[in-house]
Amino acid sequence: MSVCDQYRRVEEKVKNACKRAGRPPEEVTLIAVSKTKPASMIEELLPLGVRDFGENKVQELTAKEEALPKDIRWHMIGHLQRNKVKYVIDKACMIHSVDSLRLAQEISKEAVKHDLVMPVLVEVNVAGEESKFGVSVEEAPSLVEEMAKLPGIQIKGLMTIAPYVEDPEENRNIFRNLRKLSVDIREKNFDNVIMDVLSMGMTGDYEVAIEEGATHVRVGTGIFGERNYNIE
Ligand SMILES: *Cc1c(COP(=O)(O)O)cnc(C)c1O
Repeated sequence: MSVCDQYRRVEEKVKNACKRAGRPPEEVTLIAVSKTKPASMIEELLPLGVRDFGENKVQELTAKEEALPKDIRWHMIGHLQRNKVKYVIDKACMIHSVDSLRLAQEISKEAVKHDLVMPVLVEVNVAGEESKFGVSVEEAPSLVEEMAKLPGIQIKGLMTIAPYVEDPEENRNIFRNLRKLSVDIREKNFDNVIMDVLSMGMTGDYEVAIEEGATHVRVGTGIFGERNYNIE
C-alpha cells in the first residue's frame, strides 16, 4: 500500500474513534511520525494536505525542515538535550518532551532570544517505566508550576509514551491517568498554563488514546511502515 493509502486508513480510524467517543474529529491532530524516513515519503503526503510531522532527533528535524516546504509543522517528540535547544527553537511548532525544569529554562532562554513563544508539553512517564524519559505523575504539577513562571514558553498540556503492549486495551488506564492528571493541573489555575493538549497514542494504541481524550496522536509505523535503523 502507498504511504497515502496508509495515511488515509489511519485517518479513517481516527475519525471512527472520535465518533465512538462522541468527539468532533477536528479535536484530534494526526501527527505523521517521519523519523528515519526520507523526505520523499513526506512529500508524497503533502498533496493530501498533511502538514503535521513528528521527529525525535534534532539533526533529522532540522535537515528535513531545511529541505521541505516552510508550511510544514514540525513536532519535536523525542528526548531533547539542552545544548541542542538552540537548533530547534525556531523550527519546531511544539516541543512535546519537556521533562525537567533545566530543559524548560533553556527553551525559555532561547525563545526569548528569538522573540517567540514556544508551545510545550510536559512529558509524563505514567507507567513508571525505568527505560523511559518523563517526570512521574507526582512530580508533574510542581514542574508545571515552576515552568509557568518562565517567559517565552507556553505550557499547552501533557504527553506520554505508553508501554509497548500486544493489546492496546492494556494502555487504556495509562491514557485515562494522563487525562486525569491534566484535569487536576488545570484546576490549579496556574497563569500561563492552558492544559488543552494531550499528546498520547502511537501506532499500536492511538484509537484507545482517542477514546480517552487524546488531542494529538503520533503515528509512525502505521503510516510509513516499519523503520529500519540499520540503513541510517
Ligand atoms: C517513534 C515515535 C512514535 C511513533 O511510533 P509508532 O509506533 O511507529 O507509531 C510516537 N511517539 C514518539 C515519541 C516516538 O519516538
